[in-house]
Amino acid sequence: MKSMNRRRILTAGVSTLTTCAGMSLLTGITRQAFAAGAPLPVTALGDRIAVISGAPGNVVALTAGDGVLLVDSGAAGMSDAITAALQGRRVNTLFNTHYHTDQTGGNTAFGRSGATIHAHEITRAWLATDYYVSTEDRWESALPKAGQPTETFRLKGELKAGGETVEYGYLLEAHTRGDSYVFFRDANVLVAGDVVSPQRDPALDWYAGGWIGGRVDAMDDLLELANDQTRIVPAYGPVMTRTQLQAERDMMQHLWERTTALTDAGRSAQDMLDEGVMNEIDRRFDDPYRFLYDVAKGLWAHYTNFGGNIV
Ligand SMILES: [Zn+2]
Repeated sequence: MKSMNRRRILTAGVSTLTTCAGMSLLTGITRQAFAAGAPLPVTALGDRIAVISGAPGNVVALTAGDGVLLVDSGAAGMSDAITAALQGRRVNTLFNTHYHTDQTGGNTAFGRSGATIHAHEITRAWLATDYYVSTEDRWESALPKAGQPTETFRLKGELKAGGETVEYGYLLEAHTRGDSYVFFRDANVLVAGDVVSPQRDPALDWYAGGWIGGRVDAMDDLLELANDQTRIVPAYGPVMTRTQLQAERDMMQHLWERTTALTDAGRSAQDMLDEGVMNEIDRRFDDPYRFLYDVAKGLWAHYTNFGGNIV
């Protein structure tokens, strides 16, 4: 019932479908070409797809003709290192999984060199205007035009690149308001962005619309896409299996049930910590209070979505 309530909200207003098709590019780069001389760690997932780590998060590259399709562009200042890892091949297509600067910092550099940038419409809108960063009490400037996505979608879409069918779609409100996945169905590689977090504490950017309910729904959607052979690439950390994704989803489901009940009973984040909520899960968090604070903020922002009793 709660899940249905969440899902209704997530799909509300998502009625248009923008599909970018028509790209048919030949393959070219080998896994050796990705790795040779690259200053950033590179993990090959087959012959045509590689994960470039340390940018500071993961960037995924698909060989597409004599160029590259990239998922996320790394932090500002990492573009040269990423380009080096690509052996200087030009990025002709770029996807952003969400608006955060560690995923979009290279947008302007790659956009200026000719990349077509794809993102969820809400992520495009976020990047196109100045926005307040609540955790740092500062404003971040809009990206220059060259760095802003120009190909957007609300629900999902598909294109062909490098002999791969590239599917993409929304994971709304899981981490921000405009998260999305990119699924290389032929290679069976699913890029999940910051919607899954096997290494770092799961982050809920409540100021930008992310919340624990959206995160559970999004992981359910990812589980539907994946099978036992799927390689799942998070924004940070090692490549995951579907079993590992299921475990993280189940942990988050438990936390969802406990924190919604406690919020309904008027408890604060500190109360949740004191009541031992974080001791009930089989994972150590670096900053459990910070996580619960963000959970509580997100729950209050979505309180009517899960049938809360407080008017
Ligand atoms: Zn993020």
